[in-house]
Amino acid sequence: MKKKINLLIIASVLGIIALSIVQGYLINNTYKLKKDAFIKETRRSISQIDDFSPALDSLSGIWQDTFLNTVSDYKIDLASKSDILDGLQLVMDSINDTYRTEYQKELVKKNIPYGIKFHKKIKAIILLDSIKNDTIFDVEKSAKHIILGDPIADEDAIGVSTTSWQTDHTSSRIINGETKDIVFYLLFLTQDKMDIAGWEKIVFKRMVGLLLLSLLIFSIVIGLLYYSIKNLITQKKIADIKTDFVNNITHELKTPLATLTLATKMLKKDEIQQQPQLVDNTINTIERQNKRLQKLIDQVLNNSLGYNEIQLNKELVVIEPYINTVLDDFLLSVKSKNVMINRAFSEPNQTILLDKFYTTTALLNILENAVKYSGDTIKIDCSVDSKKDLKISIKDNGIGISDHDQKQIFDKFFRAGNKEIHDVKGLGLGLYYTNQIIKAQGGHITVESKEGTGTTFILTIPFN
Ligand code: ADP
Repeated sequence: MKKKINLLIIASVLGIIALSIVQGYLINNTYKLKKDAFIKETRRSISQIDDFSPALDSLSGIWQDTFLNTVSDYKIDLASKSDILDGLQLVMDSINDTYRTEYQKELVKKNIPYGIKFHKKIKAIILLDSIKNDTIFDVEKSAKHIILGDPIADEDAIGVSTTSWQTDHTSSRIINGETKDIVFYLLFLTQDKMDIAGWEKIVFKRMVGLLLLSLLIFSIVIGLLYYSIKNLITQKKIADIKTDFVNNITHELKTPLATLTLATKMLKKDEIQQQPQLVDNTINTIERQNKRLQKLIDQVLNNSLGYNEIQLNKELVVIEPYINTVLDDFLLSVKSKNVMINRAFSEPNQTILLDKFYTTTALLNILENAVKYSGDTIKIDCSVDSKKDLKISIKDNGIGISDHDQKQIFDKFFRAGNKEIHDVKGLGLGLYYTNQIIKAQGGHITVESKEGTGTTFILTIPFN
């Protein structure tokens, strides 16, 4: 059974790990899809801002006009390629602040609430000719970057689109008193890029519902598994306790029954019947075993009562003489063993309202255990402190209880697992019942113990 439970736990843990991996994979995929969808959506929203904004359009007109003019100069050898590029950069720089402001205004108009940086980067400028193309600028071959808009680090830049501006340009110039037509066909390629501030957060926010739902489902699965395994372990514990109890009670019943069978057989014998002393002894044995059986049955019937089932019958008791009587009676019952009891009382003549019958049973249970779970010479210290509550400490010099077992000794049917107690008879009900009796009177019981040294039980009963 234990092996089966362990296997189940291992299988569940493996299952949970597999589930986590699948879940993680699906969430990661969803994140990628959401990210792509978000970028696509933003790209679509901003891709035509340039064309539909009159302010941005007129700014484009400014740099384009200046640019076309310089190209015309280039065509008649009044400017070099680098003059074209420097001129372009200059005009773009001069309008850049206005361009950026206008761009942001357009974003607000389009209801795009997140901060977007945007720029146009020139990829290539080529003058097309039927004979030979003339490349003015090629970003791949140049170390120079001509940009209109916001500066964006390469690693953050998200491509929006590649725009191509193609124009067939004709202008006239007067050279040496002669009007000359300058004609060229231009291909101007730009790459539009954007950077969305905190896009990870935005995508994450869009996934919060999904994340929470999967976390909830995950927690429910883990919770259910934990609950089922815990239940299974409890069931197993109960089954073990029941088996132990049946074994213990069978063992407990066997001895008196065997003695009773032997005693009755002896009484039937003629030679015994003729000796009155032997008859008396045998009858005493029968009586003792009878009592023992009765006590066992009482233990099973009464000792399993819960504290709220105990009917108290309280009376005023003078503490010192009452406890002394219990201890004296107990000493008489264990004449066969070498038991010494030290007593100490903090307050003489102090009284308390308590149920004498049940409290005596509780004290006797503790005292009997002190004798049961000790060596041959038993020293018990009983100190009573009745200053605030009635606090009775019973300390023995016995085998002690391990820290682990201390947590369970008040449980029904619990018996410590150490080897020394296997020979000691018991049903594991005494301390459970003692605890219930003290609880029924509004008090509590604690234990302090060290294996091999001894145990102290402290019974506390309040005065009211
Ligand atoms: P029982 O004595 O019938 O087994 P109890 O409920 O009285 O049942 O005690 C429960 C267990 O607590 C015992 O089996 C024993 O292992 C441990 N125990 C109780 N009292 C002592 C003690 N004074 N010293 C050592 N172990 C004790």
